[in-house]
Amino acid sequence: MPSGSGSVMSKWQEVKAERNRQSLARLTKALPPIFPSAVLSRALSRPFVPPTPRLAIDSYWRAHPIRADRLARGLAKRSGAPDGWFWRLGTDRNGGLPTTFRTPPAPFRERAYARGPGFCCVCGQPVYRFGWHVDLWDAGANEKAVWHCACVVAWQFWNAPSSEARILRRLQARRCGETGGRLWKSAEVDHRVPLFQVWSEYRHAPWPQLLDYWGLPNLRAINRDVHAAKCAAEARDRYGARHLAPELA
Ligand SMILES: [Zn+2]
Repeated sequence: MPSGSGSVMSKWQEVKAERNRQSLARLTKALPPIFPSAVLSRALSRPFVPPTPRLAIDSYWRAHPIRADRLARGLAKRSGAPDGWFWRLGTDRNGGLPTTFRTPPAPFRERAYARGPGFCCVCGQPVYRFGWHVDLWDAGANEKAVWHCACVVAWQFWNAPSSEARILRRLQARRCGETGGRLWKSAEVDHRVPLFQVWSEYRHAPWPQLLDYWGLPNLRAINRDVHAAKCAAEARDRYGARHLAPELA
């Protein structure tokens, strides 16, 4: 060990401890008497304590994307689809319509159905203090907010589930979702029902049940070689379907 690294380390420890003291003081000062206890205990056990209640809530949901996914789909069920809405794609983002079937359908993100400030654009339910989904404080909807903290994390998960491959591997006890064999570190996230098929065959399914195709019920980790073979087979099927004679298609 080079001489001096010990003191560099202890200096770093001091800086970190001081930063945590300050964060804790800020958090304690800003903390309302009522606050979700699971969020608080996680915040206090972080290597770096989040300095505001809002950041504490954000950090909580980031650590629990599967919980956020389940909650967001549950909240969306309370809203249901607005009258007259159906899943459509747009050619540009101006009207808020998704431009690809890979984006989860979200009526309340579309301009025609947006509920406005105080309501979450993912699930359509009221957003309360700190982006929480329950009005623990009896303070009414937060007029500045248009997302629940949980729904931000769920939305990111639905759009990029690969970033949570590690969690899915753990949930599956490291068994490949397709073959049941050992799941390698390089495993990839697969949609059981591919999204192109969701669009072509199930697009008229009611919302928000449609969201299940982006959430945990339709996701699994499978080994990379198995995934490549599945994607190739799907591409062949799609090619075949497009090029079959109409009477056979
Ligand atoms: Zn929401």
